[in-house]
Amino acid sequence: MFKQKINELLIGTNNKGKLREIKNLLPKYIKIYSTSEFNLKSPRETGKTFKENSLIKSRYFSKKANLTCLADDSGLEIDILKKRPGIYSARWGGKKSDFKIAIKKVYRELYKKDKNWKSKKIKARFICALSISHLKKKIACVQSKVEGHISSKPKGNNGFGYDPIFIPLKKKLTFGEMRPSLKHKIDHRFKAFKKIKKFL
Ligand code: IMP
Repeated sequence: MFKQKINELLIGTNNKGKLREIKNLLPKYIKIYSTSEFNLKSPRETGKTFKENSLIKSRYFSKKANLTCLADDSGLEIDILKKRPGIYSARWGGKKSDFKIAIKKVYRELYKKDKNWKSKKIKARFICALSISHLKKKIACVQSKVEGHISSKPKGNNGFGYDPIFIPLKKKLTFGEMRPSLKHKIDHRFKAFKKIKKFL
């Protein structure tokens, strides 16, 4: 059986930073729709894993807009915080997803755990699960990660979310200090895209 090519795709996110990053990763022949064009609110993320939450989103938005939907769920895992904030990464920013608040919470939690945390390399990773659904049907679901550590203070104004506090392995700059074009060649979302591309 021939695989049908996807010519139009809804991006299942209300996060403008993510929408921009995902758009840049997709082949140009695909017509992209955003959730704001359909006035869609995000569903409740009731899953226990990144993959489950990404499927909740892609199925939900696909049904609402009657379009094939690509959605992601991503977040930051910090080892000494028992992998928190993890799937709660957006929620650590409060109702308005304020990343300054989320970053402050990370530093507060690290300090509670170990007053000397700044003198240690605090292992962390960004995870990205991506899924494509057509109505309720799952077409694909993949997950990738980028390993690194937490910076002793926030640095840089590029990107979004926890970018100013994450230093990827073998680099000196945070994602927030890096040129976006460099971040997008090594990050969790780019790696997950490489895996899901064959389903597009
Ligand atoms: P969700 O996938 O919409 O639940 O949100 C994931 C959250 O993880 C984002 O709101 C950010 O706080 C964080 N996050 C995910 N990917 C990145 C990234 O590439 N840079 C910085 N923060 C990220």
